[in-house]
Amino acid sequence: MTEFIEKHRSGCAFGGIYTALAVKNLLPYAHSGPGCLQQAKNILDHKNAAQGPVSYAEPIVPCSNFSEKEVVFGGLEKLKAGLTHTFDVYKTDLIAVFSGCVPAIVGDDLDSLNSFFIEAKVPIVYVDVPGFKGNSIWGHHRFLKALIEQYLEKENSAINPRQVNVWGIIPFLDPFWDGTLNAVEKLLASAGLEPNIIYGDRDGIGAVKRIPAAAFNLVISPWWDLDTVKLLEQKFGTSYLQYPNLPVGPSETTKFLQTLREYAGLDKNTITKIIEKGEREYMYFLGRSLHASFEGPNLPKRFVMIANSNYALALSKHLINDLGMIPERIYINDGVPEEYQEIMARQFTCFDGGISAEVVFTEDGGRPEQEIRALINDRPLIQHPYIFGSYWDKIWAEESMSPFLPVSVPLGDRIVLNKTYFGYAGALTFYEDINSVFEV
Ligand code: SF4
Repeated sequence: MTEFIEKHRSGCAFGGIYTALAVKNLLPYAHSGPGCLQQAKNILDHKNAAQGPVSYAEPIVPCSNFSEKEVVFGGLEKLKAGLTHTFDVYKTDLIAVFSGCVPAIVGDDLDSLNSFFIEAKVPIVYVDVPGFKGNSIWGHHRFLKALIEQYLEKENSAINPRQVNVWGIIPFLDPFWDGTLNAVEKLLASAGLEPNIIYGDRDGIGAVKRIPAAAFNLVISPWWDLDTVKLLEQKFGTSYLQYPNLPVGPSETTKFLQTLREYAGLDKNTITKIIEKGEREYMYFLGRSLHASFEGPNLPKRFVMIANSNYALALSKHLINDLGMIPERIYINDGVPEEYQEIMARQFTCFDGGISAEVVFTEDGGRPEQEIRALINDRPLIQHPYIFGSYWDKIWAEESMSPFLPVSVPLGDRIVLNKTYFGYAGALTFYEDINSVFEV
């Protein structure tokens, strides 16, 4: 049965436009009504850690601005006129046309503009992302598919044996994406690889063009970008390595590095040194904090997680395997496709010490609120669990007198610039955040 979704956590498919806004010098064009980008902004950008686009701010993103006339006669002529004007007034390396609900409903066929797109002054890719067809993760995947199919050439360029393309981190939807990619890039480079990342303060379209030259694709996620790397394998024959979650903390980061070493044939000594240094630094800082916390905050033993799949798995592994906490219940809210749900659920049955967690796949934000409130009310004498969620959960979590930290979209009134929970150092940042909700 289709569920009623209250307090949505990822926005409509049109939100895939934010992936384009994370690539330097890539100009998105909104073939939609004037409010669609604003809707996406509300959940993915403005109320999600006060982020902003890389090259083109939202108010200057060109738009077909659908009105009654386009609804009656179609919007393709207006799109052509808008793009022609865009060539004259914008400096950009690539334009990506995102087509929303109304053009889909009135039957605008972007394929019919193929020759216009091919002859255009600036390369153009186009993608249908009507909001009623999926969430912004679906929109993100649709955009990457369009980029690979319409823009990347199957050239005979030589493969760079050290280059690895990094996937599995969705810009904006993951409010920590920029800091995380910086940290991943640094770690991979120290391991002897040449990471190629298309988002953020990097080479933008240059990095996009280098995608086919990679020795392999690395996807750090339970399912995000898995279809993308499969498509790259199909088109360019590039193999891929999937690590099923963002490594947070010593257990997972060490495992991640060992997996990478084995897969990519990296130097054993180099990897051993990175692991030893990372684990030593983590234990040093955590040890100092533990000495202090004999008189400090009392972290609950149990936790509830309401997050997208990447963070739900990553943070749960760290909280259980490294910090010894017990999962109460995990709500995964990013619309995991059915074919991945069973594989993902299995990941929650094999924590250290034989611990497993009850997992609920639901995009409905009202359900965890109702169920966790009831759970807390049923056990008034037991210490309340720590609640990890999003801005939507703040009020009811605080009313329940539970410690609360937003970790998933929309993050609300936290500002995130270069912060990450990835790796050894990222876990210390997470530990600081967890404990910062208490008065020391
Ligand atoms: S659901 Fe449709 S009309 Fe609404 S914001 Fe998304 S694309 Fe635009």
